[in-house]
Amino acid sequence: MLIDSHTHLRHTYSPEELSAFLSNPPDDLGYLVEISTNNDEILTSAALRGVPWLLHAAGLYPENAALFGTKMRGEFLSLIERFPPHAIGEVGLDYHWDYAGAPEQEKLFRFNIETAIARNIPLLIHSRDAFDDTFRILKDYALKIPVVFHCFGYGPDEAEKLIPEGYYLSFAGNITYSKAEPLRAAARLVPHDRLLLETDAPYLSPIPNRGKKNCPEYVGITYRYVSELLGLDFDSLSAQIERNFRKVFGI
Ligand SMILES: [Zn+2]
Repeated sequence: MLIDSHTHLRHTYSPEELSAFLSNPPDDLGYLVEISTNNDEILTSAALRGVPWLLHAAGLYPENAALFGTKMRGEFLSLIERFPPHAIGEVGLDYHWDYAGAPEQEKLFRFNIETAIARNIPLLIHSRDAFDDTFRILKDYALKIPVVFHCFGYGPDEAEKLIPEGYYLSFAGNITYSKAEPLRAAARLVPHDRLLLETDAPYLSPIPNRGKKNCPEYVGITYRYVSELLGLDFDSLSAQIERNFRKVFGI
């Protein structure tokens, strides 16, 4: 069984393509985590509920930071009450795009973390060009919930800091890119029981599909690549990823 632990189906497929995908998923795909990054997406995710192999994550992504306030917060909390997610995410800090200042992003990130703690569900982290602050803020909480660094985008030094914390690292198709040596070096360091794989579709198509729209069907390419990178056979890697995923999501 293959698992795509992070994807955006509604950005990947047209409504027609999406219903075809849901009614006829790839044979080897066991689970997929669909990500909603704002209140509108949580509401529209309701239409995708009831598919047993589809898990939902909901979070206020850093781009919401500038407008985050009582209203957005209240709406978010009532939406996740109506449509309980399996995880809070993707949430965190992004200093690459000019979404909002660091203090505004931190305030929103802390709200997301505290929501995950209150609901006792996993936290899926988005962190770009913001490792030190992400790490500092997470360390403020003695987190007992699983923490996943989705689409891990740093290198071995950062991985070495995350591993002792018990965090999970999830790698996407960009690990196949020629300039991704830091990602490969990080992946080699991660204990196998802390590894997840994902597409982050529609972004970051693995080679040889780089430049094309990514889709969950391509997750197997990343499985194959990582199995060769780590010197594991494909089936052992798949079984290990499945165990890790079940542990994180409690399924
Ligand atoms: Zn994403």
